[in-house]
Amino acid sequence: MGRKWKAHGLNIVVVSESRYLYYSGAVPQYMGGFYKIDEARIDIKKLCHKYDAIFIEDSVKTINHPERYVSGLKDSYKFDYLVINTGVISKAADNLDDCVYPVKPMSRLIKLRDRIDEWEVKSLLIAGGGPAGCEIALNLSNASSPKKIKIEIHEYSDKLMSSFPDKLSSGVESVLRARNVELKFNQPWTDESNLDKDYDAIILATGNRPAILSEAHSFTTDSEGRIRTDQFLMVESSSSIFAAGDVAHAGAKSYPQIGVHAVKQGVTLRHNVLAHHLGNPLKAYKPWKIAPLIISDGCENGYFVTSNKVYSGRWAIILKYMLDMKWLERYTKAPHERRSYVELLKDAMKRTQKS
Ligand SMILES: Cc1cc2nc3c(=O)[nH]c(=O)nc-3n(C[C@H](O)[C@H](O)[C@H](O)COP(=O)(O)OP(=O)(O)OC[C@H]3O[C@@H](n4cnc5c(N)ncnc54)[C@H](O)[C@@H]3O)c2cc1C
Repeated sequence: MGRKWKAHGLNIVVVSESRYLYYSGAVPQYMGGFYKIDEARIDIKKLCHKYDAIFIEDSVKTINHPERYVSGLKDSYKFDYLVINTGVISKAADNLDDCVYPVKPMSRLIKLRDRIDEWEVKSLLIAGGGPAGCEIALNLSNASSPKKIKIEIHEYSDKLMSSFPDKLSSGVESVLRARNVELKFNQPWTDESNLDKDYDAIILATGNRPAILSEAHSFTTDSEGRIRTDQFLMVESSSSIFAAGDVAHAGAKSYPQIGVHAVKQGVTLRHNVLAHHLGNPLKAYKPWKIAPLIISDGCENGYFVTSNKVYSGRWAIILKYMLDMKWLERYTKAPHERRSYVELLKDAMKRTQKS
């Protein structure tokens, strides 16, 4: 891609606060010991090198739209075109106590696994019983997780995953109870709970906000602070800036903050930035007709969730493994090393066998 763009006079520069992109589809299973770390992340620096793009490890703090540069902690970077793809960070993720781990950014969350392995964490509070908090709890509490720790979930509402069908909420609740995870409902998280030392660590899974602070740019945002773009993912009132993924409110409709949209919007961006530069027509972002979510319950079972239906079984976790690894290996392995669906299926059968 970098070479093709260079031929049109464009250099690609990727500025990211971490060399690795931790893949959220696999991180909960990494936390439960199912994956090794290199199976759950993409080395962006290596990928940039392969595609003739420049990688810079820095955290962007402000965007100067009129003068076309962004400022990071280390330096400032000029641009002709800018793509904002910073995702979200957990609410209340600033100035955290050392024992607190927000689910986003994941670069911090994955360090908790090491602390659990070292037995530094034996009791864990998960604040928030939404899909992120529940999937992490399911994985940490499953029978093959390397270390057994005491887990408690505090949920604001009166049930887990309250925005999902009842079948999922009640199914996950009974699995977690059977594994001795303590569930406390109508229990809101407050910043003061941060100081509660009854737990060795706290995971913050109480919701997210866009990772570009609203003060640090001058774009129009929706009520959640997501940057508004048109259907071509071009930021409103700009002719050189695009935004996509969780940080963006794309077009008239706001898409849910799931990786399926972020990934598919990448393809639209790849076309549109170059097309705009060359004066060619842009393409509107078109989501898949359905965007199912597959939640892993540790090792042997998964929940396949569409907007109002829930199915579960070992097949769901096998399907998740195959889809996740097929996608990840495109960015982590050379073409001859990538596994076929048949090889992935065989491996999934082995790895999800009842112990
Ligand atoms: C526990 C959990 C499990 C999930 N599981 C699934 C799933 O199974 N399926 C699914 O579809 N979705 C899932 N999601 C949602 C999914 O993670 C997001 O929708 C997806 O990652 C959004 O992609 P993105 O590129 O917009 O942002 P991200 O993947 O968050 O990427 C943003 C990147 O920008 C970097 N960054 C942030 N701020 C800055 C800055 N200021 N300067 C430089 N770099 C910065 C970050 O470090 C990160 O690498 C899950 C979320 C969580 C929390």
